Amino acid sequence: MKILVTGGTGYIGSHTCVQLIEKGWQPVIIDSLVNSKISVLERIEKITGTRPAFVEGDVRDADLLQKVLREHAIEAVIHFAGLKAVGESISMPLKYYDNNVHGSVVLMEAMKQCNVKTLVFSSSATVYGDATKMPLKEDAPTSATNPYGQSKLMVEKIIADLCTSNPSWSITALRYFNPVGAHESGLIGEDPQGIPNNLMPFLAQVAVGRREELQVFGNDYQTPDGTGVRDYIHVIDLAQGHLCALAHAHGKAGYHVFNLGTGKGNSVLEMLNAFGKACGKKLKYKIASRRPGDVAASWADPQKAQSVLNWKAEKSMDDMCQDTWHWQSQNPNGYP
Ligand code: NAD
Ligand code: UDP
Repeated sequence: MKILVTGGTGYIGSHTCVQLIEKGWQPVIIDSLVNSKISVLERIEKITGTRPAFVEGDVRDADLLQKVLREHAIEAVIHFAGLKAVGESISMPLKYYDNNVHGSVVLMEAMKQCNVKTLVFSSSATVYGDATKMPLKEDAPTSATNPYGQSKLMVEKIIADLCTSNPSWSITALRYFNPVGAHESGLIGEDPQGIPNNLMPFLAQVAVGRREELQVFGNDYQTPDGTGVRDYIHVIDLAQGHLCALAHAHGKAGYHVFNLGTGKGNSVLEMLNAFGKACGKKLKYKIASRRPGDVAASWADPQKAQSVLNWKAEKSMDDMCQDTWHWQSQNPNGYP
């Protein structure tokens, strides 16, 4: 099966491409490289022995998309391409709506023109807004607390309307919880530009000496140790979820939504300790004030993905920390 992977040189996309190749499927990547490096392709080739086809371009380029869909005889699309910095989305909402919402509409229109009707979309647990009832099931109420989250919700809504309008579409929205970790080879991993927004890459940069100390955003939440609790999921498990979603969706029409998480929550301090153990260092931190917009706790009920997709997260917290450390220590400054 030939699969167009938008955003395929990014963090989650690159790990998914490795697994697609290992399964014998052929990824064709389109990426503007706005948040990734071309050297990712060599790394994928080192791991798998195959260099995926790559097109440098933007998903908002309708003509290019149609050309790629036709020339490569694409059968299904995984749509990772998007911007994901919550803070930036608040200061630059139009940039986020244009890239994430308009980009998705252009993609689906091009797919329609080329009669490609199978799509897996990267959604996020952020669509559960500030829900307090845990664990989160797919039918929990949705809302958004920032333009990034709103852009994911809007695309989910557009997808649902599209599937209603024409039942021959098969579209799956995967709501990721907190992806962390890296491929066990240490050749590919998360390489944020600038100061990392997320906990795990920040911890990795403290461990490797690029940052002085972690700021723990709040220790007065209603959680066991007062710090924020999240459902961290290994990127390899997450990537596998896309293959299961594709296998399930291909040829099966309709709109499907799945949580991809482990079902377990860990606090910031638990993560700090687990990462310290993996890298063999005591990591410096200080308690800072809460980060605006953060929820106290968020974790998934992953039961639906298990029963329908036959998918379950397998990797442990130790795997997540060890693999992140392996990647970061081998690539202290990220990709060349
Ligand atoms: P990433 O930034 O590493 O990867 C996204 C890729 O898309 C990058 O390579 C970037 O260059 C590319 N891209 C962005 N806009 C593009 C455009 N208009 N045209 C072509 N390419 C474009 O991010 P990631 O962590 O791999 O996330 C992938 C997807 O998963 C995103 O849609 C993100 O919102 C979603 N998601 C991520 C997380 C997370 O914590 N990493 C959580 C939930 C959802
Ligand atoms: N966090 C933190 N310091 C940081 C980054 C994150 O204390 O430098 C906390 C954050 O408040 C949250 C948890 O770590 O409780 C996970 O944050 P992340 O940004 O990784 O994921 P999200 O909040 O988007 O789920």
